[in-house]
Amino acid sequence: MAYTGVCAHCGKDFSRHYPGGRYCSKACTHDARKSGVVKPCASCGADMYVQKHRAQRKNFCGVACHDAHQRRTKVELKCKTCGKPFLVSPHFSSRKYCSLPCRDACPDFKRRCWIENNLQLQRRKEPTSLELAGRAILEAAGLRFSEQVLVAGKFTVDVMLDGVPIVIQWDGDYWHGYRAANDNTRWSRAWRVASNWTRRRTSTWRRWV
Ligand SMILES: [Zn+2]
Ligand SMILES: [Zn+2]
Ligand SMILES: [Zn+2]
Repeated sequence: MAYTGVCAHCGKDFSRHYPGGRYCSKACTHDARKSGVVKPCASCGADMYVQKHRAQRKNFCGVACHDAHQRRTKVELKCKTCGKPFLVSPHFSSRKYCSLPCRDACPDFKRRCWIENNLQLQRRKEPTSLELAGRAILEAAGLRFSEQVLVAGKFTVDVMLDGVPIVIQWDGDYWHGYRAANDNTRWSRAWRVASNWTRRRTSTWRRWV
């Protein structure tokens, strides 16, 4: 004797040799118990079944579709060191290197680190008597200024006046000797080219203290 019925899941008529059961097959029994949702993959558009607790978060049918979607929004850059192309999100489009080893191997980056370290050291050290005397003079003159400022990404200057393009170097004889009075030193020439600013160099510190 055959028992007939309508599958509660797929709606098909079915007949079987034993009574009971609401579904036509194991597959329908299994599917009917699923509590998740079917939604389209955000990349390829194919329907995919997503468990209930992941319904909000899962948007792609697989890793390949996820990666393809990520690539779609990314920009391709060329590594400054190895020349290979690499992908970043638009937020990081100013990145220059594909990896940390490539960054660390770049001479420009090394130079920037060196300058930055030097600047930190300069700021940490106690001001010399010459710098203190110079500071007193500027303060007495009512000038506003900053000290140990990085200019043109290259040079650290002792003083930069606020609002006017003037920097001051307090060169004591101890470090700089009398040669500092000579404007044609390699340093000052390079500095003038890089910064295009007015420079006042007080070479004879005895004049000040
Ligand atoms: Zn069925
Ligand atoms: Zn997909
Ligand atoms: Zn690289």
